[in-house]
Amino acid sequence: MDTISPSLSLPDSPREFGFYVGGRWIERGLRKHMERVSPGHDIPVTRITLCTKDDLDDAVRVARRAFKDRRWSGLSGTGRADVLLKAAAGIRERAEEIAYWETLETGKAISQARNEVDGAASIYEYCAGTARSLHGDTFNNLGDKMLGLVTREPIGVVGLIIPWNFPFFILAERIPFMLAAGCTIVAKPSELTSASALIMAEILTKAGLPDGVFNVVTGTGPEVGQAMAAHMDIDMISFTGSTVTGRNVLLASSSNFKKVGLELGGKSPQIVFADANLDEAADGVVFGVCFNAGQCCVSGSRLLVERSIAEKFERLVVEKFAKVRIGDPLDPRTQLGAIVSPAHNEKILGYIKKGEEEGARIACGGKAIGTKAGRFIHPTLLSGVSNTMAVAREEIFGPVLSSIPFDSLEEAVELANDNDYGLAASVWTSNIDKALQVIRSVQAGRTWVNTTITGGPEMPIGGFKQSGTGRETGVYGVEEYTEIKSIHIAIGRREPWVG
Ligand code: NAD
Repeated sequence: MDTISPSLSLPDSPREFGFYVGGRWIERGLRKHMERVSPGHDIPVTRITLCTKDDLDDAVRVARRAFKDRRWSGLSGTGRADVLLKAAAGIRERAEEIAYWETLETGKAISQARNEVDGAASIYEYCAGTARSLHGDTFNNLGDKMLGLVTREPIGVVGLIIPWNFPFFILAERIPFMLAAGCTIVAKPSELTSASALIMAEILTKAGLPDGVFNVVTGTGPEVGQAMAAHMDIDMISFTGSTVTGRNVLLASSSNFKKVGLELGGKSPQIVFADANLDEAADGVVFGVCFNAGQCCVSGSRLLVERSIAEKFERLVVEKFAKVRIGDPLDPRTQLGAIVSPAHNEKILGYIKKGEEEGARIACGGKAIGTKAGRFIHPTLLSGVSNTMAVAREEIFGPVLSSIPFDSLEEAVELANDNDYGLAASVWTSNIDKALQVIRSVQAGRTWVNTTITGGPEMPIGGFKQSGTGRETGVYGVEEYTEIKSIHIAIGRREPWVG
């Protein structure tokens, strides 16, 4: 690990946050709180309020009132777009502040956090267009005595539950789409990473979002998250997190049959053919598993590589792993930052051990990096993995790549699909026919050819199989937050039914 001194200093004391309801901060008061310790520095950086179910109920009441009186949904698309554009500008104004706290709470590299904040602002800009272009349909083919209209209405009050790995970016992939549709929101960020959601609430108010349209209640999953999923006055839950928790959310949502969008875990394959540009493919594969220290839902954590080049390709990956700059998350040169929590660190190391016990060989890495503070894990390549091993089937959520050889295109597809998850997949080949054949057969919601983990808000995201239901982003995403209504309009005099 580079011994590099950060160019930004650490906070002298934890930043204290209340929570945000009805367009204003609510102080912690006598509620319990939690101190978030920076994963890269081992010092407390933020102090977060642990809200109660009563706080959630209050926030839902406020969001319901804001929805009912149409203070937001009653605006024109232009009016909504105006607020979204101002929110984007507000994000850009506070970009450095957001990236700083995001880095301290998540442990991610600050250069990456800065990119995410910039990308988030751009999503709000995209959604300004969506607010104006969202529309329904007409049916002029119902005969001369009937005209049919199909309108889209905002679904109502949305409960938004998000994880710790991309706290600000994932919010941006959800909030402006919900707002473009005209919904009101109660958000619950992960208890580990609440700062950026609270800052966003302040930005939205300043941008002119009416009070009560976006609210943030902080706290734990089992208390606030579970109550949100079961809440009788929430119309939809957008949940992003693990598959295990997603199942709980789905079960709890049956209380009032609310609509549920689930963005869950993954075990995404990187399929590398012998005819690929191997150097570029290796670069992409290394990026795909090191991005966010592998704590990424679409992390390309399964390397499916054509047997004839497997050894050569693994050597390339090992060489590139050695060059990844691991270090202090606050240093702008750092590419791979810290692991989010001690428990998660142990989980990742446990998987590496299990892989070895099951017969995989550690080609490089395989252990934690000894540092005075924080938790860092060497990028790890597990070679000789078979698709039945836990390291091939389960989400490790760390910088750990499991390499599995294949002999034919058909076998590559079969291996890719032989998993409970279906979130993402990448294929690397110089033969476009082969690429398309694989991509058409692979069961995954987000796919890439000769690249990985990239895209824009125009493109939908979401999973097949146990990676989730529904789609976020793009026109597909905004439509998820609408109800469809069919309107039948009679033309001319009614044919009497009676007499
Ligand atoms: P998690 O499931 O532990 O927590 C996610 C959120 O759910 C947090 O806000 C948490 O407080 C809350 N929560 C916990 N228990 C709850 C309960 N019983 N009811 C309601 N809410 C509850 O996930 P995590 O560890 O924060 O995030 C990592 C996981 O998220 C990985 O599995 C990753 O693949 C997934 N993820 C998926 C996507 C995607 O777009 N598909 C994106 C990012 C992360």
